[in-house]
Amino acid sequence: MSQLPTAPPSGFRDFLPASCAMRARAAEAIAQVYRRFGFQQIATSAVEDLPVLLGKGGGENEKLIFKLMKRGAQLEEAKTSGGELADLGLRFDLTLPLARYYCRHGSTLPHPFKAFQMGAVWRAERAQKGRYREFHQCDADIIGSDSPLCEAEIISALLTAFEAAGLREAPQAVVNDRELLQAVLSEAGLPAEKTAAACVALDKLDKTGVEAVRGELEALSGSEVARRLEELLLSKPGDLERLSRFQPQAAARVREILSLVNGLRADSAVFSATLIRGFDYYTGPVFEFRSPRLSGSLGGGGRYDRLTEKFGGQPIPACGASIGFERLLLLLEQEGLETAPGPDAVVTVFSEQLRAASLKAAAALRHAGYAIDLYPGAGKLKKQFQYADAKKAAYAVVIGPDELAAGQATVKDLATGKERSVALDSLAEAVKKG
Ligand code: AMP
Repeated sequence: MSQLPTAPPSGFRDFLPASCAMRARAAEAIAQVYRRFGFQQIATSAVEDLPVLLGKGGGENEKLIFKLMKRGAQLEEAKTSGGELADLGLRFDLTLPLARYYCRHGSTLPHPFKAFQMGAVWRAERAQKGRYREFHQCDADIIGSDSPLCEAEIISALLTAFEAAGLREAPQAVVNDRELLQAVLSEAGLPAEKTAAACVALDKLDKTGVEAVRGELEALSGSEVARRLEELLLSKPGDLERLSRFQPQAAARVREILSLVNGLRADSAVFSATLIRGFDYYTGPVFEFRSPRLSGSLGGGGRYDRLTEKFGGQPIPACGASIGFERLLLLLEQEGLETAPGPDAVVTVFSEQLRAASLKAAAALRHAGYAIDLYPGAGKLKKQFQYADAKKAAYAVVIGPDELAAGQATVKDLATGKERSVALDSLAEAVKKG
């Protein structure tokens, strides 16, 4: 019989305890920052009806979606009729579920609504380092305000969260505006129907370089348009003033956002005319967080003023951003964060007959607020001490028959190897003082 694989499927991952501890600490730091910025935590469902994920007319997101097959009789019926086999799908981001959530619950929520959400998303992409099929996002969004303060607050919240999570080297926020980009593309003579294809080409700038992008633009729209685009977008992508006249309002929005963010943290945000951000739901400013040590972005977001329309609601101004949690962890691991602390003590179990005494001691210590790992079993003390070392415990507690008869326990300091006897009813004191 062939053995089952022990590795998870490509693009999915297992996490060892040390990674989990690091992930939990980073997640808590991010959540704390989001709370300090006034965002309220929400949770949305991992699975959505397929039409919600596909949008009204399907679209380019379809390739990304992990679809779930219909079940039972409905599946059989779809198979025989040649109909759609799937009816549900896994969410590929947290923004679309948020828009649905807001349209359903908006009347009971504060207005404007500041929400944060942390959870897994799934994308059927080709997996590679830093690009997974299951990954986690930490989103902060403001629904119901068109003020550029939203972009500024969200960008500042993410920059603060990166810092709080322990990132020593601050990422930079790169800002653009979809309306400005659109105006520049049409100024260069690009037909509207080629906008999406041109954006796909421009989006590869960091990976493939100017020459390759220029080649793609030329193939798409001819050499004159490609030349204009190169001149306008590729030659000096950071020069906002040069492009302002094509869409003065959008340029003013970008200027305002940069000034607000940089007013709090000097030089933390810059303009780039070639920043695209993949999703088609963005309507105005878009932004991305970059670190020199990371290919791809650490986070991204933007304004999506029309997403709620999909759910039959009025268009509501909204803006949000997402931390790519796995990418953040990659950087934190490179910076070599210390491993998680172990329990305060491992309480050993001398024998099966004496396990109730160990269980009681563990319960009393836990009640006193200590993190106590009760050895799950009984057996040679040497093995249990090895276990306590492996768990990085500060102390090991032993309650053998002699100790129990005397109402005592032996407390071993695992760093120094020193042992001492303490009364069972003052064990908590002993663990504290050492
Ligand atoms: P997006 O939802 O595409 O705007 O992405 C937001 C952030 O999620 C990006 O900046 C990345 O940090 C992260 N991200 C996107 N795709 C992946 C992936 N396949 N694996 C890991 N992180 C990702």
